[in-house]
Amino acid sequence: MTYQHRWIDGSPIDLPVGKVVCVGRNYAEHAHELGNEVPEAPIFFIKPASSLVAMAPSFSIPTDQGEVHHEIEMALLVGERLKNADATSAQWGMAGFGVGLDLTLRDLQDALKKQGHPWERAKAFDGACPMSSFIDARGVSWKQPIEISLEVNGELRQRGNTTQMLFPAFQLVAQMSHVFTLEPGDIVLTGTPSGVAALHPDDQLLAKFGNALTVKSEVFAAP
Ligand code: ZN
Repeated sequence: MTYQHRWIDGSPIDLPVGKVVCVGRNYAEHAHELGNEVPEAPIFFIKPASSLVAMAPSFSIPTDQGEVHHEIEMALLVGERLKNADATSAQWGMAGFGVGLDLTLRDLQDALKKQGHPWERAKAFDGACPMSSFIDARGVSWKQPIEISLEVNGELRQRGNTTQMLFPAFQLVAQMSHVFTLEPGDIVLTGTPSGVAALHPDDQLLAKFGNALTVKSEVFAAP
């Protein structure tokens, strides 16, 4: 089925489906677990609209290209055009919040990195961005830290909160908007906490955004 942004009640969101702008290494512990330096400036990359699929009730992963890692990330749905924005206008420009999976063909990414090649084949393939539904941005308070988490087969794999981000979410959006104009319907992924690991067919997932959103999902092998 073609991907469409949805509110948590399942109704479609009246925004087009655009690109997904992502950041590498926005949590220090995740940078360390992959043996990477903590960056001084954020590392940006893009997943195309064709990488988006609904996270629930299930999604599929490639099984013939080495390990596919889960990276659970806070997802921000852009509601207004942002170019050279500051953090305040970036926050006002958001339509909704949810969680996305930045699926990564880790073996392939490692091989591409070693050769000094771009990562696209490892990060931007069809289905590489399973996405939850979205909570209306007006209903979310940022005064307290917001936690995201991922359980796989009942075991907690990843948990992180907004205070652990090296570049806070709206500052990150503002910085992105100086490189890529963010259009209504684009999504920003804000980086993954530590605990990334391989997914396997039949895995049962539980992804959470604070207390506001819980997504149950199952992993299938891509046909
Ligand atoms: Zn990521």
